[in-house]
Amino acid sequence: MRKLLNLEETERFGKRLGENLFPGCFIALYGDLGAGKTTFTKFIAKGMGICANIKSPTFAILNIYDGSRPLYHFDFYRLEAEEADDLGFDDYFFGSGVSVCEWSENIVELLPKERLEIRIFKRDVLREFEVSVVGEDARYLRLLKELYL
Ligand code: ADP
Ligand code: MG
Repeated sequence: MRKLLNLEETERFGKRLGENLFPGCFIALYGDLGAGKTTFTKFIAKGMGICANIKSPTFAILNIYDGSRPLYHFDFYRLEAEEADDLGFDDYFFGSGVSVCEWSENIVELLPKERLEIRIFKRDVLREFEVSVVGEDARYLRLLKELYL
């Protein structure tokens, strides 16, 4: 699925995604610096009932927020897969919270085999969102369908 969205439409889209997430859902975000990954995470958080000021966790790797369920906001900008392996993220990745992961490309080998993937591309003042599912998990396919409506 592809969508070309301004900031306001992105907020609506992100919130709707946040409202429809299931426990243990994993969202891998891809996109250059300034593409809008953190902004989009903020909107997902809003949809989960999280009012906290979501900032890029670039220096923390992981920020945790309390919403309708826990939100684990990862940023692997400065991390290599080997390092991440030692840090033991599996409890988060495969727990019952929701994981949203910036710079997923840096730990591709460690990502859950079933996940939602969202690629964000700058298109002048707009952003193009490319959403897809990896794996066969019916819950992700249902979520993708929900986002079409
Ligand atoms: P990233 O986390 O990918 O580095 P940010 O979320 O910090 O990027 O966003 C960078 C800038 O892009 C911010 O100023 C933000 O307001 C803007 N932006 C994000 N999403 C959109 C959008 N859909 N339309 C227009 N501008 C956007
Ligand atoms: Mg960011």
